[in-house]
Amino acid sequence: MDELALASYLDRSKDRILASLVEWLRIPSVSADPERAPEVRAAAEMCAGFAREAGMHGVELLEAGGPGGPPVVYCEWLGAGPDAPTVLVYGHTDVQPTDPLDEWESPPFEPLVKDSVLSARGASDDKGQVIMQIEAARGLLAERGGLPVNLKMLFEAEEEVGSPHFEQLLEAERERLSADVVVVSDTTMEAPEIPTTTIGMRGLVAFDVVVRTAPADLHSGIWGGTVPNAALVAARMACALHDEHRRVTLPGFYDDVAEPSKEEAASLAAVPFDEEAFRRTAGVAYLEGEEGRTPRQRTGTRPTAELVGFHAGYGGPGMKTIVPATANFKVALRLVPDQRPDKIAEAFRRWATEQAPAGVEISLTQFGGVAPMVTPSGHPALRCLSRAMEKVWGKEPLFERSGGSGPEEALARVLGAPVISLGIALPGDRFHAPNETLSLEQLWRGVLAAGELLLELGTLNLAKARDEGPATGKGTQ
Ligand SMILES: [Zn+2]
Repeated sequence: MDELALASYLDRSKDRILASLVEWLRIPSVSADPERAPEVRAAAEMCAGFAREAGMHGVELLEAGGPGGPPVVYCEWLGAGPDAPTVLVYGHTDVQPTDPLDEWESPPFEPLVKDSVLSARGASDDKGQVIMQIEAARGLLAERGGLPVNLKMLFEAEEEVGSPHFEQLLEAERERLSADVVVVSDTTMEAPEIPTTTIGMRGLVAFDVVVRTAPADLHSGIWGGTVPNAALVAARMACALHDEHRRVTLPGFYDDVAEPSKEEAASLAAVPFDEEAFRRTAGVAYLEGEEGRTPRQRTGTRPTAELVGFHAGYGGPGMKTIVPATANFKVALRLVPDQRPDKIAEAFRRWATEQAPAGVEISLTQFGGVAPMVTPSGHPALRCLSRAMEKVWGKEPLFERSGGSGPEEALARVLGAPVISLGIALPGDRFHAPNETLSLEQLWRGVLAAGELLLELGTLNLAKARDEGPATGKGTQ
């Protein structure tokens, strides 16, 4: 194997990098807790300091959503010239809450290294991966005096609460943030011997449906059996969302669903998947879902409709003999390319109205409207990532699609650039759970890979990459 560009830099920097990360992890930057706002800011400030020490320019804390908003670290190095590709690296400086605290084997904000594994809240999600990216830039700047690409870095402080102001920030700073490729480091890979990369996220549209059948609850002895019951109407509607093959019944729901390309499908299927372990982790008796599809397809490349809540009638102690007048249920629709949130929302509204018996009042409230995103498996930027990861892990990464929805879609859409993911956390690192960890071996490999990736992206043929497009909601041939 060729010598990796950052190998000797890393050898002499490991102690310093680890010390910086440990210091950073001591700051409880829990974005969900308003009382931690000073710590969220302190974590962003420390991150800005790392960027400055790395030799990045224009280091600044932007304010998401306007003055006083959460601090977003921005920095850049634009010395590669106008003809070189511009790369935007994304990560986040905030962390998840720590409860239940008594399940932690060591205090979450007192980082501990044992057997080359670092334990602390935020170790892998996402402070370790942010420092990995900053160190790759620092190493290349130190070793070569420059980078082969124009590099911008953006680390937000609200990712763990759903990035409520992030899109607004992207819109407001679109010029400054413009890039040819976005690199996200906030994901996991299957295993050190099975490198993977996430190439897609699902979209999301959700609804609250309120059913009203009468002005008020009615006596079940006097009226029961003769009048419509809101609980039953809502239950019938909720059940009607799927057919007997567990397919979603909204008319046109599957019309725009694109099957993955052959290359992508083969790669997705090659990632080992232990169905029994998956079932056991969920703690359920059996798996179910769309017929003819594997569990991984059902969460990755297929859309789903989940009943996420149902409330009707009397649920208190004892008994209350009524015919409920109102009921409500909530549905979350996860979307895949090329489904469009607006079109699916419209189909849901039409469906709900048609399902309700005449004269029954239905009111709908929509939540969210995130489009799905996938980067085509043949995209030149993805090839750069594959080569960089192969140099470090010895194998090209397999592709994965995430079942969730995240800021990746907004990055791809607003900036009009493909998103690729260099994520080095492992499934056992317990993102969001007690005893979060980071394998130091993965961290070191991540620094090397992030450096190789910048070198590979420096060779990117921009005209060809732009032809491939940003890959938002399209691109699965
Ligand atoms: Zn994260």
